[in-house]
Amino acid sequence: MRFYSCYAFDLDGTLYRGQEPVPGAVSKVQSLVERGAQVLYVTNNSGLTQAEYVSKLTKMGFPAGESQVVTSALAAADYCSARELRRLFVVGEPGLVATLRSQGFEVVNAPDSDLVRPSDASADALVSGICRDALSYALLDSAMQAALQSGVYVACNADLTYPLEGGRICPGSGSIVAALQACSGVTPVVVGKPAPDMLTSALGRLGVSPLETLVVGDRVDTDIECGRAAGCDTVLVLSGVAREAVEGVTCLGSVLDL
Ligand SMILES: [Mg+2]
Repeated sequence: MRFYSCYAFDLDGTLYRGQEPVPGAVSKVQSLVERGAQVLYVTNNSGLTQAEYVSKLTKMGFPAGESQVVTSALAAADYCSARELRRLFVVGEPGLVATLRSQGFEVVNAPDSDLVRPSDASADALVSGICRDALSYALLDSAMQAALQSGVYVACNADLTYPLEGGRICPGSGSIVAALQACSGVTPVVVGKPAPDMLTSALGRLGVSPLETLVVGDRVDTDIECGRAAGCDTVLVLSGVAREAVEGVTCLGSVLDL
């Protein structure tokens, strides 16, 4: 496989599963950096802030700084900012709330902490991401009202599942999107992968051409589609959600084989 100027790695299922790095992934990424490659970490997961991803990655041994981390929470912030949607009802985790607040947004249903809760406060849009602890019927009900009242629903991603240690597959943010779309009838704008915007803008900030960039991920419907839409070469790895090769897609066992 040729050497690229830039590698845009997915996280869950590509570089780690849960808290465990994929075997050989740390030394592979380190060696690419030592050879002069730029590395981006591009995740659809909105559960952590950039700083928290840097902490998680560096604890495992991956070389990472905040400017290298791109999340769907930031993509949601960019989308809302461009449309002047300032007051947001959020279904999500503290990382999403903190990211939105740090970008100047008001999270109407988390007025005094980073924890979301049911609320009747009016909002300019509903924003949803992964929401593992705070999700309840009452929160879904409030979120549905926010979607109906604002008519705007921004979903960080639509991944139905994500992989954990030992091959266990869990409900992803997309399963929450499905519930909210079903009850509200409001079609979400999905800002995470496969939409190429967050990758394209990160490459622009780095000054790297898509032609010099390899996108590496474990999902065809998000990572590979995003890479293709951005004009990058792509590699599917079989260390996460995808378990077998897909026709027409370059495929490796894991990042170790890059
Ligand atoms: Mg993944």
